[in-house]
Amino acid sequence: MSPTKFIFVTGGVTSSLGKGIISSSLAKLLQARGYRVTIQKLDPYINVDPGTLNPYEHGECYVTEDGAETDLDLGHYERFLNVPTSQANNVTTGRIYQSVINKERRGDYLGKTVQVIPHITDEIKRRIKLLGQKHKFDVVITEIGGTVGDIESLPYIEAVRQLKWELGVSNTLVIHLTLVPFLAASGELKTKPTQHSVKALLENGIQPDVLVLRTEKTLSEDIRQKVALFCNVNIDSVIESIDVSTIYEVPLRMRREKLDITVLKKLRLRANQEPQLERWEAFVNRLKNPKHRVKIALVGKYVELKDSYMSIMESVVHAGAVNECEVQLDRIHSEDVNEGNIRSLLHSYHGLLVAPGFGHRGIEGKILTVQYAREEKIPFLGICLGMQCAVIEFARNVLGYKDAHSTEMTRKTRHPVIDLMEEQKGVTEKGGTMRLGSYPCVVKGKSLVYKAYGMKEISERHRHRYEFNDKYLEEFEQAGMKAVGINPDNDLVEIMELNGHPWFVGVQFHPEYRSTVENPHPLFVHFVKAALDLELGGK
Ligand code: GLN
Repeated sequence: MSPTKFIFVTGGVTSSLGKGIISSSLAKLLQARGYRVTIQKLDPYINVDPGTLNPYEHGECYVTEDGAETDLDLGHYERFLNVPTSQANNVTTGRIYQSVINKERRGDYLGKTVQVIPHITDEIKRRIKLLGQKHKFDVVITEIGGTVGDIESLPYIEAVRQLKWELGVSNTLVIHLTLVPFLAASGELKTKPTQHSVKALLENGIQPDVLVLRTEKTLSEDIRQKVALFCNVNIDSVIESIDVSTIYEVPLRMRREKLDITVLKKLRLRANQEPQLERWEAFVNRLKNPKHRVKIALVGKYVELKDSYMSIMESVVHAGAVNECEVQLDRIHSEDVNEGNIRSLLHSYHGLLVAPGFGHRGIEGKILTVQYAREEKIPFLGICLGMQCAVIEFARNVLGYKDAHSTEMTRKTRHPVIDLMEEQKGVTEKGGTMRLGSYPCVVKGKSLVYKAYGMKEISERHRHRYEFNDKYLEEFEQAGMKAVGINPDNDLVEIMELNGHPWFVGVQFHPEYRSTVENPHPLFVHFVKAALDLELGGK
């Protein structure tokens, strides 16, 4: 067996060029040729993990099976590769420093001055190599967050330089992603920013092996030649990454550019078979040629930044493709929803999704949305806080407990239908202390969710501190809201469903973290199907 090969993906010129999508697309192509591949993200910020970051700062916090709160790019890795990631796939500067400082306190470096080089860089290298060793991957792709030239990314770039030198040219490869801007005034594509960005890498001792150029216009042969000449790479190492309508098309574009073949050649790996991408292609085809169209509203409070609901949005895309249906997903700010405008805001939608979230802001708009979905019989999916809102709404408007609430929002309520979990009561630290990761759930036979999953024992990922208050369960069930999914170990209510409604489901867990191109999540598939039924029924 040949040793694990390491590919590093760096970015230049600007942020948000899509390193995560390029890494995922390359990984997909290598996986489709039979290689075992994983992707890792190194984030240069000092938070130990993104769990404590406001979604406005950094987009969604993605949760892995093993309960790690991670960067949203890990969501792309899973959606593309259909292989679970773990804590080891996301490392931040905070985590690196934390382990070095812990070692220093233990006395591991006794007598030595602890420094960025070699101690921090050694810890970075250890984390990169660990993933290859532990899981026996053929290829580990490491995406370096940030942009080359940032002060924060310097130790990572230095670690890459050292690894290239230590492991040798055929075992390591650096892909640099840059932007070739189009100047409308002169009608030209410009390569200078790319040249400068490669120069910045060279100053740090790294010659990139492959350049991926983001562009809005096709790159001419001349431009490719120019970039190759000024950046010291072969012409077949200049890869065009043109803007496309869906991220799921990028692997197909990269195949056309032969990115996988160039990479395999450089790493001296065999390109023994054509990538098996039939299912992927079928998915993209369905996505681009929908037969129907529905409108779903996503009601939440982080709607200004679309990255905040990345996994939900992608899950809806997967589910749309299964139903051969384009889903127009509109994000609506829950603070904007009130009794006066709710009908005009929501009447044209075929499905209402109330988003996860924290804190009091915007909560009443979410509760009103649930009421509207319940009364107007519009398909409804409530996720985490969305499910909790469904419970509060039912308690207030059906059971008649006008002041029912979650104790997260008000401690004084006489009817705490959502309450802090027992295990959370002594918790004071914020970082990594929620109920996180995968837990089992048993689904009741006669339910909408059983119809969706087709099985009784499921496992889903969580991120919460509050739960349904069991004391009210009997009353809820008698009035028609049933607990149809229960954690078998501690009886925690995981899924609520409403009788006499076409499709009304609230889940305490986050199904969006598990939807992939190859395995679209059944709850989203059935939610979109219910929306489509409503549309076809003539809404
Ligand atoms: N704030 C709620 C809780 O902690 C819901 C969390 C969420 O939606 N992820 O229980």
